[in-house]
Amino acid sequence: MKHTATNTKAAIPINSRVNDPQAALNARSGKVWLVGAGPGDAELLTVKALRAINSADIIFYDQLVSEEICALFPKNTPALYVGKVKNNHSIPQEDLNLLLVNQAQLGLNVCRIKGGDPFVFGRGGEELLALRRAGVEAEVIPGITSASGCSTYADIPLTHRGIAQGCTFVTGHAEKTLDVNWSALAQLNHTLVFYMGLTRAGDISANLLAGGLAADTPVAIIENGCRKDQRDIISDLKNFPEAVLREHVKSPALIIVGHVVSLKEQLQVEVWMQEAKRMTA
Ligand code: SAH
Repeated sequence: MKHTATNTKAAIPINSRVNDPQAALNARSGKVWLVGAGPGDAELLTVKALRAINSADIIFYDQLVSEEICALFPKNTPALYVGKVKNNHSIPQEDLNLLLVNQAQLGLNVCRIKGGDPFVFGRGGEELLALRRAGVEAEVIPGITSASGCSTYADIPLTHRGIAQGCTFVTGHAEKTLDVNWSALAQLNHTLVFYMGLTRAGDISANLLAGGLAADTPVAIIENGCRKDQRDIISDLKNFPEAVLREHVKSPALIIVGHVVSLKEQLQVEVWMQEAKRMTA
């Protein structure tokens, strides 16, 4: 269940003043904050994000903004769901851009809140560009991106001295085929984090194997990261597509490829050792 302060779709008219930037500048103008909500845990919200939520006249939120965070929205602030469901965009991006411009031009302070970080596969750049083009004051508040939050909650450091000197974020989403230089990715010796990769698990595995990455390279699939029902599934490059099916992994989920994944087990062993020591002391 999402926040239900106001009915969601198409409640707000979109007018055409956006096409006239001068009119926008002349008008009593509000401001838009593009706010990163982080991956789920409300305690991962920044102080600045919380302040933007509390001072907004209206909130627009996405699918990936967790219920826990929606529960923090002030009860008297209208909050509208503008999220997208796969293959079923509830509001086209262009209309959403217009909506934000329009609301600011009406003089409202708008909080546009998104999962993770707005600038990491979040279309924050497109929204910011539309707002700036329309002469609307806008500010981006960064959030913890899911790669960072989910890996941390799973005990997987994204980089580790001697194991991974870098980390690359890749999107698994594409209209048709993925436009990725797989052999370059496979040769990087980086941790690779795939966003939106679930339905492309087979392609990701096959392409990285063909690019030269070893079949036994550890892989973690993190479902519902930084939420109460986070699930970590550990596999390897050859077998993880099968694990995705077998475990019925659901979105949102991240795929982490690289030797840093094996640190999870080492870190867990340390916890058990400490517990065993305490029990026998
Ligand atoms: N801007 C977001 C990413 C949006 S793309 C960010 O910075 O995190 C959406 C993808 O992000 C999902 O398909 C999934 O791969 C990943 N994702 C977002 N939240 C997640 C979560 N809580 N657990 C696992 N993956 C998540």
